[in-house]
Amino acid sequence: MIAAPVASAGALDVERIRADFPLLARRVHGKPLIYLDNANTSQKPASVIEAVDHFYRRTNANVARAVHALGDEATSAFEASRDKLARFINAPSRDEVIFTSGTTQAINLVAYSYALPRLQAGDTILVTQMEHHANIVPWQLVGARTGAKLKVAPITESGELIVERFIELLTPEVKLAAVTHVSNVLGTINPVAQLARECRKRGIPLLVDGSQAAPHLRIDVRALGCDFYALTGHKLFAPTGTGMLWARRAHLDAMPPFFGGGEMIREVRFEGTTFADPPHKFEAGTPNIAGFVGFGAALDYIESIGFERMAAREHELLLHATTAMRSIPGLRIIGEARDKAPVIAFLIDGVHAHDLATLLDHEGIAVRSGHHCAHPLMQFFGVAATLRVSLAFYNTHAEIDAFVAAVQRVRKLLA
Ligand code: PMP
Repeated sequence: MIAAPVASAGALDVERIRADFPLLARRVHGKPLIYLDNANTSQKPASVIEAVDHFYRRTNANVARAVHALGDEATSAFEASRDKLARFINAPSRDEVIFTSGTTQAINLVAYSYALPRLQAGDTILVTQMEHHANIVPWQLVGARTGAKLKVAPITESGELIVERFIELLTPEVKLAAVTHVSNVLGTINPVAQLARECRKRGIPLLVDGSQAAPHLRIDVRALGCDFYALTGHKLFAPTGTGMLWARRAHLDAMPPFFGGGEMIREVRFEGTTFADPPHKFEAGTPNIAGFVGFGAALDYIESIGFERMAAREHELLLHATTAMRSIPGLRIIGEARDKAPVIAFLIDGVHAHDLATLLDHEGIAVRSGHHCAHPLMQFFGVAATLRVSLAFYNTHAEIDAFVAAVQRVRKLLA
């Protein structure tokens, strides 16, 4: 059974909130849009869209290069987002926040810059059965160059990490553990603080893939005690092409740069180059400036609503959707962990996931179907694909009820 919410939804005015998201008012195939694919990417509030628009209309210039007014304003706006992000995750220092294009780039940065120089044959990297490909493939790529191998911590049939097994697998040849905070398929919330304590006791650094956690859980990297935390902006109401790697300063100081180019150097000579301090050492070239200005606006928006109120509302929606979906004959939920984010993967007996998703789309309902970039997890459950409903605080009970009614109708057509 899913755990009860920890806080009350308070007086969250959902209709007013929905009005902040222009796209939610759109119709799809002549029907009002019901957007239940938030784990894929979230919709953007007008304040984020306006921040990007304003940047290009009024400020546009490159960062950290020009002394003119626009360059100065662009740099201030861009760096202000770093301050906001550092506060958002309670980072000890803004200099530990590296801007990336998303979680994928953040994990690859750790793979190539931290792991590659340290790994050798016989070493292992510990992951879990529920990882997204972004937290599997980079380790395989550096493993192929070094001879290091992956080790996989198992999960239960209900989709929970078997923590005792994870701890047993933390043996001396493990050079890094890499774990998702929240599964993008199962919704499972992993006990990252506990895992980090066990890793620390053994001197093993822990990377956390926070892509699906950041929209739903208050992230505090100090309290979590991990070494690396990766997240994506576009699932957090920010523009696409934005993300972050947080890492402990000692790691960042020891890591060579991943990309070389402008903006990441202290001095360049043909004989050799010295590098800027973090974060700039890892941010070669012109970044997604407008996107990060939008990211700052997204964080402002979240704080204006209140993160805890958003999370409480999402938990309430999760309970409502889970109960309603269980009433559908032949529907099987994949992922029944006690601690869950509002992500529900499911299958219906005799119905192909893509067929159901296509028919739901004709009703204006957006759900995801497929392997969710988690082939090994699909293999564990013995399925090729699932459907997935993922909720945001702007979803409503009425939308969930309409989705359940549509599944009931469509199921009869397909079964
Ligand atoms: N990890 C998880 C758990 C994810 O859900 C995703 C996005 N689906 C990623 C990593 C990759 O994020 P991005 O595509 O933004 O780099």
